[in-house]
Amino acid sequence: MGTRTADIVIIGGGLAGLAAAYAATKKGLAPLLLEERGRPGGLVCSGKIGPATVDIGAESFALRAPEVRELAQELGIETVLPQGSSWIWTHKDGGRAVPIPHGVFGIPASLDDPAFASALVEIAGEEALERARQDLELGPEAGADCEDLASFVRARMGQAVLDTFVTPFAGGIHAADPKDLAADSVAPGLRRKTRETGSLVGAVKAIRPRPVPVVGQTKGGMFRLVHALRDAVLAAGGTIESRKRATSLAPADVHAWNVRCEPTKSNPDPHLPPLTAGESELVETDRVVVATPAPVALKLLGSACEASLPSGSRAMSASLAADIASLIDGFRLPAGAPIAHVTLAVRSAALDAAPRGSGMLVSPPGPGDTPRLRAKAITHYSAKWPDTVSGTPDHTHVLRVSYGRPGENLDDLYGDFAVDTALADATTMLGVELGRDRLLDSRVIHWDGSLVPQTPEARATVAGLTALAGKTDGLVLAGAWVAGSGLAAVIPHGLKAVRE
Ligand SMILES: Cc1cc2nc3c(=O)[nH]c(=O)nc-3n(C[C@H](O)[C@H](O)[C@H](O)COP(=O)(O)OP(=O)(O)OC[C@H]3O[C@@H](n4cnc5c(N)ncnc54)[C@H](O)[C@@H]3O)c2cc1C
Repeated sequence: MGTRTADIVIIGGGLAGLAAAYAATKKGLAPLLLEERGRPGGLVCSGKIGPATVDIGAESFALRAPEVRELAQELGIETVLPQGSSWIWTHKDGGRAVPIPHGVFGIPASLDDPAFASALVEIAGEEALERARQDLELGPEAGADCEDLASFVRARMGQAVLDTFVTPFAGGIHAADPKDLAADSVAPGLRRKTRETGSLVGAVKAIRPRPVPVVGQTKGGMFRLVHALRDAVLAAGGTIESRKRATSLAPADVHAWNVRCEPTKSNPDPHLPPLTAGESELVETDRVVVATPAPVALKLLGSACEASLPSGSRAMSASLAADIASLIDGFRLPAGAPIAHVTLAVRSAALDAAPRGSGMLVSPPGPGDTPRLRAKAITHYSAKWPDTVSGTPDHTHVLRVSYGRPGENLDDLYGDFAVDTALADATTMLGVELGRDRLLDSRVIHWDGSLVPQTPEARATVAGLTALAGKTDGLVLAGAWVAGSGLAAVIPHGLKAVRE
């Protein structure tokens, strides 16, 4: 088995790993980044759909943290804001679209906003609005001990606000029910500001005083950030080894850590991990950043705890290894929902006016509803990010129709059936007839389990594991399961993952 050394090994080439690798180069280190698939980027990736090359994974970053925009600037890429407003589809009374009120996660910044008040009254009745207004009278303590988003919103504004405005956000963005989302993780500052201002509506107003965009994109697509980071790491002397999988970690004697890795080749089923393609090798290093999704990270961490400790090893003590192993043993990682995206390139002059702005989130059907569509969201990608279709023939549009709520079975959503379902759902949601005659190209991608719900319990265990990892010599945990979901969480955390 071959052995070599590296200044720092970064396991996983998603945005967390790439950000960490970039940060390492800025500290004068030559990072070795191991990525088991054929390209870095992880959940940020591009695909050619008809005449356009677009993001087929994550497509934007939240503007709440300045680091992503600053990073893009530093790398010489422009960032752009989305065009068009967005909507919520409710299945009530045969189905209709209502505009999303200005606010945070569907929660309004003003209870008098007509987009909020009239939609709530139409959908849930006057008493629902009365209940929402109680938020102003309840005082700062109501809901203060509710850690999950659902109980917090319910305690402040009632069930109808939760169902009508917040649940579609949770499903569309986190593929989760709000009861499974830690409020502090998915809406940072909301609970604290509620305590400070005395009401949830006051908190929302303090966090988002004006109706300005909350997300941005690197011009041309988020995948351009991946390319820029890759190029910057390589130019600074780093190495990115795609098709190389880390299989275990162990405390070492001369250097702190041994990383065992093996070459891989693509799996005929692209949804499954790549296959092993040769002999494994060891990389010795003083620093390791584990930036893989949670199941792999826990396996690697577990392997480090099980490995025998060479005498004089400074990686970690036996008692620290035992503490980490015991937390991993007790950790029941929440399962991520099935997710399918059907991206459609269509030609339609009727879509030029972007009838539903940048897109729409869909409420889950309530009791008594007869849904006319199955999707949980649609993004009018080319209307939201017009740069991505510049230079394509007139009336070319890219739509992304998303499926998958917790517990839903998407086994049928493949091939022609998925495309026909998405065309029918897009027709209903956009109010524009979109049949096969309009279709230029399509791509169906399943991302099952990729968005692990950030439950309050999981956040607590992850905080414990991170604290223990902080006591090792040179081992850092990064990635969405640690930092929180989304590029605005993952990238700043990855940039800080390389210790002094
Ligand atoms: C469909 C979808 C849409 C999304 N849209 C948005 C959005 O618009 N905006 C937003 O902010 N967030 C979005 N997110 C969330 C966001 O994409 C993630 O939070 C973020 O990309 C996670 O980055 P990461 O580096 O932690 O993980 P990943 O991107 O999952 O990267 C981990 C990498 O580790 C590699 N790996 C795994 N095991 C090994 C191993 N043993 N050895 C070597 N490499 C390994 C994987 O191949 C992968 O490349 C979306 C997520 C999904 C699923």
